[in-house]
Amino acid sequence: MRTRMILALLGSCVFACLVSSGSAAEPTAPIKALIVDGQNNHKWAETTPVLQEMMEKSGRFTVDVSTCPPKGKDMSDYLPEFEKYDLVVVNNGWRADSWSEKAMQAFERFVKNGGGVVSYHAADNAWPQWKAWNEMIAIGGWGGRNEKSGPYLYTDKHGNVFRDRSPGKGGGHGAQTEFEITVRDTEHPITRGLPKTFMHGPDELYSFLRGPALNVQILATAHSDKSNGGTGHEEPMLMTITYGKGRVFHTVIGHYLAQIKRGSFVTTFLRGAEWAATGKVTLPVPAGFPDQAYPPGE
Ligand code: ZN
Repeated sequence: MRTRMILALLGSCVFACLVSSGSAAEPTAPIKALIVDGQNNHKWAETTPVLQEMMEKSGRFTVDVSTCPPKGKDMSDYLPEFEKYDLVVVNNGWRADSWSEKAMQAFERFVKNGGGVVSYHAADNAWPQWKAWNEMIAIGGWGGRNEKSGPYLYTDKHGNVFRDRSPGKGGGHGAQTEFEITVRDTEHPITRGLPKTFMHGPDELYSFLRGPALNVQILATAHSDKSNGGTGHEEPMLMTITYGKGRVFHTVIGHYLAQIKRGSFVTTFLRGAEWAATGKVTLPVPAGFPDQAYPPGE
């Protein structure tokens, strides 16, 4: 009798623990986010504080920052405590040194177990040799990426998705320009309520991104104009990817400060980050989008 009662108690505790310890954040509790940076051909030391500011001012996130050692230095002690967070925002970029095997495995475990990730702009230039990273971002550019990295992913003007496996480079962009972003899924939590098309920029319009392109949904595209060194195709601008139980939001926009303070970036970034962490979006599309004032929440 006594044993049975203890077992029942234990059972209900296990159940309660399982229910309450899911890795996704509760719908309304602050999302614990970590920005990782430190090696990027972009000015990570200037963009990270602005990303942090917009996340905190949205009222939805608390944000810590983990900066890796400078390029060429010993990475063996760099090991962010990913498991303490709901979300990791990656602000590393082109030619970033590889993390240690230990750190890469910890990050892979974090995402596989349900952690959220945002791949921000040049993060998809980073780590061409890291198989799991390429699977998390679906597509990336530069760093020697080519047809061996996977297909070039794009859509036609109707949103039909193509995977082009013919030989060629991975990664390109023309001169910075203003461009129109077209939402391809108006029902996804991240894009629901956004105008079907909206302006962004001036910014780099990434093209020719290649990769495994698995478990990826293209939420929004922009036309890459041949007159500006482009492909003539619609290029993915906002994507979601699943990796194990984890959710990844991949935004290719946001080159530098002027670009990330644009309402088009702020709203899609924050909503994408919230979705990656929780699977839901509560942050509204602000009045005046995409020309609302920066920072949000003021
Ligand atoms: Zn850039």
